[in-house]
Amino acid sequence: MRRSRYFLPTLKENPAEAQIVSHRLMLRAGMVRQSSAGIYSWLPMGFKVLKKIEQIVREEQDAIGAQEMLMPTIQPADLWRESGRYDAYGPEMLRITDRHDRDMLYGPTNEEQITEIFRDSVKSYRDLPKNLYHIQWKFRDEVRPRFGVMRGREFLMKDAYSFDLDFEAAKQTYNKQFIAYLKTYARMGLKAIPMKAASGPIGGDMSHEFLILADTGESEIACHRDFLDNKWLENIAANSDLQTVVNAFTEKYAATDDERDEGAEKALGKDLVVARGIEVGHIFYFGTKYSEAMNAIVTGPDGNDVSVEMGSYGIGVSRLVGGIIEASHDDDGIIWPEAVAPFKVGLINLKTGDDACDTAAEDFYQKLQAANVEVLMDDREGRAGAKFADMDLIGLPWQVIIGPKGVDKGIVELKNRATGEREDVSPEDALSRLAG
Ligand code: ATP
Ligand code: MG
Repeated sequence: MRRSRYFLPTLKENPAEAQIVSHRLMLRAGMVRQSSAGIYSWLPMGFKVLKKIEQIVREEQDAIGAQEMLMPTIQPADLWRESGRYDAYGPEMLRITDRHDRDMLYGPTNEEQITEIFRDSVKSYRDLPKNLYHIQWKFRDEVRPRFGVMRGREFLMKDAYSFDLDFEAAKQTYNKQFIAYLKTYARMGLKAIPMKAASGPIGGDMSHEFLILADTGESEIACHRDFLDNKWLENIAANSDLQTVVNAFTEKYAATDDERDEGAEKALGKDLVVARGIEVGHIFYFGTKYSEAMNAIVTGPDGNDVSVEMGSYGIGVSRLVGGIIEASHDDDGIIWPEAVAPFKVGLINLKTGDDACDTAAEDFYQKLQAANVEVLMDDREGRAGAKFADMDLIGLPWQVIIGPKGVDKGIVELKNRATGEREDVSPEDALSRLAG
């Protein structure tokens, strides 16, 4: 992509309305634009990141056998009357009336809808288990939408729903999602800690929220110091048995604000870490709550009716865009982990209009593209300083700087955005490293 043609409205000044760094940087880097409170348009570069995050989430869901589908955003109120949640949900639900005076709503989540789809077509235990998911916009009329995409009213969520015959099978499904979540966040360069979360009326301990630590997190959490220890984490993750991994994570203390336990925290002594966290996902086993209320029943092996065991598994896809920035930035701007970067390389032509520079930059640009490396080339006229600042702001993992001095010597400058390291290398070397 050529910067001169790309719709990337970056801002030099900090927008006054942004209170936290990710919001500030997303606005400054031209990723999103607010439409109304908590509702955003995603501009091309922001949208690219959103899609990359979505794709990682999708691949890890597919890898555990979940099947992607797509349910609508608008749902009939009657469905929610069946589960009893239409009245229970409160003012967070956006309620709509259509031209025939039917009550509709913009879905804040999809348990009812998926349960209806399931019950209409699955009648026998032989068709279990089923694990279905979609990645779809949700609407929750939050009291205080804030922090940009972190707490929006309209936001993109991956929500998966599982259907199993009995508790043992449901637990197995839960464990698979637990591990898939760890992998998903790790691929995005995030350390997300699974924490015991409120499990509502069902009780039990099969509800975990995944949080990344950041000073701007909305909730205070507490956990064992080991969760911050990369070696410890790698050791556990290397184990191939699902239950062993889940146990290793869950037997160490880690709790979100309403689940904290004073006694357990005292006992930890110096091993206790109290910090702030951002919830980026939530997995939840709720047994037969919806299947009983909505008649999602299959015939069991013995011929008797069984209400299916369900769970739901959410990931805040749009919140993650902000979350990743909270976890990865410096004073100059965003530092994208490669897996979610909008482009891998930012190519800066320091002297647009100079024949030698233009030729060298154009040649390098073509070669990167031929090697399928995503590249944004700053081919605008303007000061070098402004181009550097702009490139640091948008945070592409690698910068290649082409200027008159280097062109004379047959070299380009290769800069790593995360470490700030710069090296003079031949264009061929730069190319083979970036294409690798
Ligand atoms: P929170 O406690 O942050 O309000 P929640 O527990 O109500 O979230 P869930 O119903 O568990 O949210 O939704 C699954 C995921 O969707 C959350 O883990 C979070 O990452 C994301 N999410 C929830 N609400 C929002 C929101 N208003 N804006 C952006 N993402 C959200
Ligand atoms: Mg939650």
